[in-house]
Amino acid sequence: MENFNPFKMAQQQFDGVAETLGLDSGTRELLRVPQREYHFTIPVKMDNGTTKVFQGFRVQHNDARGPAKGGIRFHPHETIDTVRALATWMTWKCAVVGIPLGGGKGGVICDPHNLSDREQEQICRGWIRQIVRNVGPLQDVPAPDVMTHGQHMLWMLDEYEHIMGAHLPGFITGKPVGMGGSLGRTEATGYGVMYTLREALKGHGVDIKATTASFQGFGNVSQYAIELYMQYGGKAVAVSCWDQKDQKSYSFIRNSGIDLKELRSMADKFGSIDKEKAKKAGYEVADAAAWIAQDVDILVPAALENQVNAETMGKISKKVKFVVEGANGPTTPEADQLFKKNGVFVIPDFLANAGGVTCSYFEQVQCNMNYFWSKDEVLSKLDHIMTGAFHGVYELSKERKIYMRDAAYMIAISRVAEACKMRGWV
Ligand code: NAD
Repeated sequence: MENFNPFKMAQQQFDGVAETLGLDSGTRELLRVPQREYHFTIPVKMDNGTTKVFQGFRVQHNDARGPAKGGIRFHPHETIDTVRALATWMTWKCAVVGIPLGGGKGGVICDPHNLSDREQEQICRGWIRQIVRNVGPLQDVPAPDVMTHGQHMLWMLDEYEHIMGAHLPGFITGKPVGMGGSLGRTEATGYGVMYTLREALKGHGVDIKATTASFQGFGNVSQYAIELYMQYGGKAVAVSCWDQKDQKSYSFIRNSGIDLKELRSMADKFGSIDKEKAKKAGYEVADAAAWIAQDVDILVPAALENQVNAETMGKISKKVKFVVEGANGPTTPEADQLFKKNGVFVIPDFLANAGGVTCSYFEQVQCNMNYFWSKDEVLSKLDHIMTGAFHGVYELSKERKIYMRDAAYMIAISRVAEACKMRGWV
């Protein structure tokens, strides 16, 4: 993995689908690379009186279908190729669910663990000052990502509004509720994962109430996916999470079914469950990979990338017929080939976890109108979009007898290619 380059991988994925779709060379050339990218410095007066210069990025991969959309990461190992890849994947994610947005991503090379709040605020304000002419509610709408959250978004919004001299809350999403944030955003990704699974099971004539599932991760995505799965009547029997103290992950298993409320009461804000408390409550605490080895119908990897790989693949029970990718990139290409061969039904990440960006789109719409919807309204609109997107991909996969991931890419890329063509770009 030393030389793993996510942007090369995104380009390879694109090249394969472009070939299948028979895209012309101009369109291929255009969509293989970002339309625009900005590299800039952010000088910050540190608390100790010195000045430190941080490196910032914003990449707009494609905005033919609407303003670019995507998060801003703060990470010490951020690279321009990671940002390019993530921006590319955002273009496909927005297109596959049919929301009128393009793909973007940004970042700053920094480690927030070693920065005071004031220093982080200066980075946020500096990021905006450097890019202010090239972002905005009609151009490019940022959001939180790794190690950034609502407070960072509000500092950025405040700087943007000061420069523009107007209230423009639709400029950025992921804001706290009451400060322009949308109700339902917390649930959106996990619930979206389950809306797609519900439809997949229906399509296969499987009663969700008769199914069992195992989840990797116990964070935002996984907890809300489990919540809705259990509301639908499914039985979740295992979850796994990272243990900061032991620096390894564990699986928590109860064959009679986990109790979500109980496990939540034993977890910290990072989604780590207390082992001792879980043991006392009757959970078997097993090794990291035990979640994937459960004799269940459904696996939901919702923690990290590259978790379903050549090594862990061998542990998967023959009973597993559905895999729903809550995380981004949880399945390696090798494991993906095996799922394809074995006829496992996979709902690919950029379709399954698109509930988050769809709700961010709702946040932007509500902010632009300055009128906010109830949580029920948000979730029912989300269900409508996710269900429609799922069926679009599912129908194509049945019609052409192709794998769901391939069908999802074909729909997304052809929508973007078509938009570029209609605009006269290619
Ligand atoms: P989170 O930080 O809230 O939770 C992550 C969970 O994974 C935690 O429970 C953590 O303990 C667990 N974990 C970490 N390392 C692990 C390991 N090695 N083995 C098992 N568990 C481990 O994160 P999240 O927001 O739930 O995001 C999870 C995934 O979903 C990421 O891939 C993220 O990019 C993707 N995603 C999130 C959203 C969103 O809206 N939150 C949207 C789209 C995609």
